Amino acid sequence: MTTSENRFVHVDSSKCLGCRSCEIACGLSHQDLDLFSAALHGHKLEPRIVVKHSEQGPITVQCRHCEDAPCVQVCPVNALYHQAGMVTLSEETCIGCRLCSKACPFGAIRVRVKSQLEGGKAVNKAKALKCDLCISRIGAVSEEACACIQSCPVKAMKLITAAEYQHKIC
Ligand code: SF4
Ligand code: SF4
Repeated sequence: MTTSENRFVHVDSSKCLGCRSCEIACGLSHQDLDLFSAALHGHKLEPRIVVKHSEQGPITVQCRHCEDAPCVQVCPVNALYHQAGMVTLSEETCIGCRLCSKACPFGAIRVRVKSQLEGGKAVNKAKALKCDLCISRIGAVSEEACACIQSCPVKAMKLITAAEYQHKIC
């Protein structure tokens, strides 16, 4: 189902410090780690928001939860779909073909190799990775659930709709 009320994490670039607090908070939250144990045990974080540095300043890359999402259209196994005002990924269904990653105009989907147990053995599988608005934290899309928004020291991040985004840039 497509909805016109999808929201996504928007970063006000005039406020963003490029400190990567959002990136770290996202990785820790999804891997159920705290910063101390992640550093102590050398866990590699897999954030769904990435901070890049450009001549114009920091830029964050994360899913826009497009209403007309190209990733949803190209996925051959329907691992990506619209649900509850966002674009959802079923990691179990994903076959790691990378079509979504190529189709996303924002470069917001990465595919990484993940180890999982199958018949008691660890096997490596390619799986897509994208922003899920931290929905599993409280079961609803809200700014309170989003680890990145909550971690930003200068409150540069909020959830907005595509229409609100258009209004901002026009
Ligand atoms: S992953 Fe890319 S194409 Fe898919 S909904 Fe997010 S921004 Fe749109
Ligand atoms: S990598 Fe996974 S989610 Fe992406 S298009 Fe392929 S099967 Fe679908």
